[in-house]
Amino acid sequence: MARRYASRWMTEELGVFRRDVRQFVGEQFVPRQASWRAERGPDAEAWRDAGAAGLLAPDVPSAYGGAGGSFAHQAIVLEELARAGVNFGASVQAIVARYVIAYGTEDQKRAWLPLLVRGELVAAIAMTEPMAGSDLQAITTSATRDGDRYVIDGRKTLITNGARANFICLAARTGDQPGPGSISMIFVDTRGLEGYRAGPPLEKIGQHDQDTAELTFDGVRAPVTHVAGGRPGRGFLQMMEQLPYERLSLAVQAIASTEAALDLTIARAKTRQVFGKPLIDLQGPRFSLAESATAVRVGRVFVDDCIDQLLAGRLAPETAAMAKYWLTDCQSRVLDACLQLHGGLGYLAESPVGRMWADSRMARIGGGTSEIMKEVIGWSL
Ligand SMILES: Cc1cc2nc3c(=O)[nH]c(=O)nc-3n(C[C@H](O)[C@H](O)[C@H](O)COP(=O)(O)OP(=O)(O)OC[C@H]3O[C@@H](n4cnc5c(N)ncnc54)[C@H](O)[C@@H]3O)c2cc1C
Repeated sequence: MARRYASRWMTEELGVFRRDVRQFVGEQFVPRQASWRAERGPDAEAWRDAGAAGLLAPDVPSAYGGAGGSFAHQAIVLEELARAGVNFGASVQAIVARYVIAYGTEDQKRAWLPLLVRGELVAAIAMTEPMAGSDLQAITTSATRDGDRYVIDGRKTLITNGARANFICLAARTGDQPGPGSISMIFVDTRGLEGYRAGPPLEKIGQHDQDTAELTFDGVRAPVTHVAGGRPGRGFLQMMEQLPYERLSLAVQAIASTEAALDLTIARAKTRQVFGKPLIDLQGPRFSLAESATAVRVGRVFVDDCIDQLLAGRLAPETAAMAKYWLTDCQSRVLDACLQLHGGLGYLAESPVGRMWADSRMARIGGGTSEIMKEVIGWSL
């Protein structure tokens, strides 16, 4: 088939890992999705099972209880979840692990990373507030020093894994000055922590199997040693350093779900009979599929190049922003075309393509909106 294409970064070892992840997701996660949708998020057991199967932060070094893999392993996890249409917060788990690896002390790495890998800690990254999303410099959650503790007050919203999370990488204001120099990332272990509250999972228009919640910090006390990087005021810089990883992760998920939807749609177009012949025999649908297949191939080649660059440690923030912006945009266009080719069936909640369409709308918003991506790209020109 014309769509066969092999990513340069794939190896035999990664192929075995992909096979295992695909099998786990198909056998263990897909059957549980209905109950996750009803509960609006996966349960603690699912997190531990994912950990045992090696799906959580596989790029954590073995010295800290990880598999010692690379972003290629993480990309495979994200791709296989996206292909199966499972919205499980493995991406956030790995992003928070990156923060711990990059800015944690040796003791913190040894304490938290093995628990994150095993799914005993569920991570969230909490930046967005009711009055501050794109404009992160406007956050008001405060961390005020009181001896060897920070006292944290504020509210975060739209936080992935929020209801279940017990380990938060929190963006807070540690100084009075406006601007980025007063923002810090603080690791907050919320187990048994007074003053911390997670709201129930929010009702979304898609990703019903994913937990997204509001978090409240009301006089929460955290050791000052839990500030990322050991010194306050570096949070904004740290977010900027880590965003390429997060944005590429979103682009990887986008291309994988788009590829899966296109495969399903091509199969449907070959079997669905209209006016006495398969749908794909009509030029209109065939051209629609041709356009989508071309966009998907272009997107895949770009994502693969970004993965290569990340693996080589030189993915530029603006390139990651291009990937996030373009791939999620491509995903929206292609999934809409795929749903249209499914006809009324595509609009049913039971339709995988219909669900992917609804789930994917978030991708142009979360992790920085498409408009903010264009700003990042524009500033770099
Ligand atoms: C399902 C889901 C999961 C999420 N998970 C997380 C999470 O885990 N952690 C977290 O911290 N946040 C999370 N978010 C929040 C997400 O990151 C924010 O919604 C996003 O950054 C946009 O912020 P906002 O919603 O406040 O929109 P606003 O910032 O209010 O933006 C509104 C509109 O204005 C546009 N806009 C804003 N500024 C500009 C500008 N300078 N130029 C042009 N246009 C502009 C935006 O693009 C957007 O279209 C999640 C969101 C969703 C939907």
